[in-house]
Amino acid sequence: MDTPILSVRNIQKSFGSNAVLRGINLDVFPGEVLALIGGNGAGKSTLVKSIMGIYKPEGGEIFIRGEAGLEKLEFSNPAASLNKGVYLVPQEPMLFPNQTVEQNILMGMGEKKSELLARLHTVITVLGWKLDLGRSARSLTIAEQQLVEILRGLLRDAKLLILDEPTSALTFDEVNSLFAAIETLRQKNIGVIYITHRLNEVFQIATRVAIMRDGLITLTGEAGEFDRAMLVKGLLPEDFTERAAETERRAVDYRAQPVFELRNFSGYGFADISLKLYPGEILGFCGVVGAGRTELAMTVFGRDRALSGRVFLDGEDITGMTTGEITKKGVNYVPEDRFLNGIFRICHLAGNITSACLRSMSRFFLNSAAEGAIAEKYVEDFRIKTTGIRQEIGSLSGGNQQKAVMGRALTTKPRVVILDEPTRGIDAGARGDIYAIINGLKKENVAVLLISSDMEEIVELSDRAVAMFQGRISGEFTGDEITQDNLMRASFGVTGAAKGSAL
Ligand code: ADP
Ligand code: MG
Repeated sequence: MDTPILSVRNIQKSFGSNAVLRGINLDVFPGEVLALIGGNGAGKSTLVKSIMGIYKPEGGEIFIRGEAGLEKLEFSNPAASLNKGVYLVPQEPMLFPNQTVEQNILMGMGEKKSELLARLHTVITVLGWKLDLGRSARSLTIAEQQLVEILRGLLRDAKLLILDEPTSALTFDEVNSLFAAIETLRQKNIGVIYITHRLNEVFQIATRVAIMRDGLITLTGEAGEFDRAMLVKGLLPEDFTERAAETERRAVDYRAQPVFELRNFSGYGFADISLKLYPGEILGFCGVVGAGRTELAMTVFGRDRALSGRVFLDGEDITGMTTGEITKKGVNYVPEDRFLNGIFRICHLAGNITSACLRSMSRFFLNSAAEGAIAEKYVEDFRIKTTGIRQEIGSLSGGNQQKAVMGRALTTKPRVVILDEPTRGIDAGARGDIYAIINGLKKENVAVLLISSDMEEIVELSDRAVAMFQGRISGEFTGDEITQDNLMRASFGVTGAAKGSAL
């Protein structure tokens, strides 16, 4: 057998009394893409940070293949890991905000700048990614930051490239071009560790799979030996099935009056949208980025002006109302980019409920006892991991920020909630919590319009699903028709996918 590029032997790592890695053994061979999957908190990021020299394990050894066979890696020394050809694309982008995209990508690379730039341009062209190298990193969206981190990784001549959930914020096209790039690296005999919570990706690019649970690798094998059910079992948190059972699916009463309705609604970026939403219904809303879903949601919410058509809430015409009035009536919108929009906007739109308003953009900042009690309730209900309700919101992890923003929106007691990409960029565990929150809303008869580019998510949660393509509804699906295949076709405007609906 080939010599591995990486050999991890009995690695142990604790944080205080929390034993996070409990004896990890793992080999990665040249020319393989190892998918490392496992629930939130399984220890995946800790493992790869230990390999990268960011954390110092208490026990075990790590070897990297060198000129003369396996060489022992010095712990807790990122430079040593880099020198041996290991590169990690981290889960949370860590760019220098004051530097440009180009400076961030090329930083720390020894070669001549002109050569590096030429290579960078080639890589970007091959990938087909749209990224302005001269922009300052501060102005990038989360997705763009992720692209920059990935480019950093692809440009390095790494022997072992590790990607920690790299695609959580990327579009379908970006993911596909990334996969093509990874495949090229694999053919050059580079070893890749690919951490993901998306099962489809495992079948798309992995040659081998390792499942991690609770600090141990519980199962490894060739990708072909795994089926979906086995992966699901390895992926979900231990208590997931119990929670799923708790929030068992409740049928929607389609004879009831729709709580929300759009009639031939048109605005900038979308046209002639008609749909109905019923109490306690989760309506999945899929499409590719740019399909017009966010524009539609923002217009419904009074952020942009409608051009024609009507919006009804419980039969009442609410077309053209201001955001404040619409919120008061019982429609709420949780926007996609929680960093730039969510926290700030929620603060402003909640002017009518000052007790629920964040008084400052950067603080989870609550004064009176009553406000404190509300915050505590959401922290507990949503399992927001924080050191306390006064923790700065910006220092929470992505999933916990998202939960906090959703919590804020729900204090307005909405009848209709529009969630825009609620789980983009967050890990599997927080994702499970957010699914539980969404199912909880359903149980309370709230109608949910779930905008998501993650087809798996739409399939898992929706009672009914519509797809939007180039600003128009391109398909509607119920029951067994809600498959990733159907949703994907309709999202790409493949004709024949659209179906009329009786609803
Ligand atoms: P995964 O990437 O599989 O979701 P992580 O490796 O991020 O899991 O985390 C594993 C466990 O280690 C979690 O319980 C987490 O809270 C803990 N942990 C991770 N990093 C730190 C840290 N820097 N300090 C303390 N605990 C940590
Ligand atoms: Mg992680």
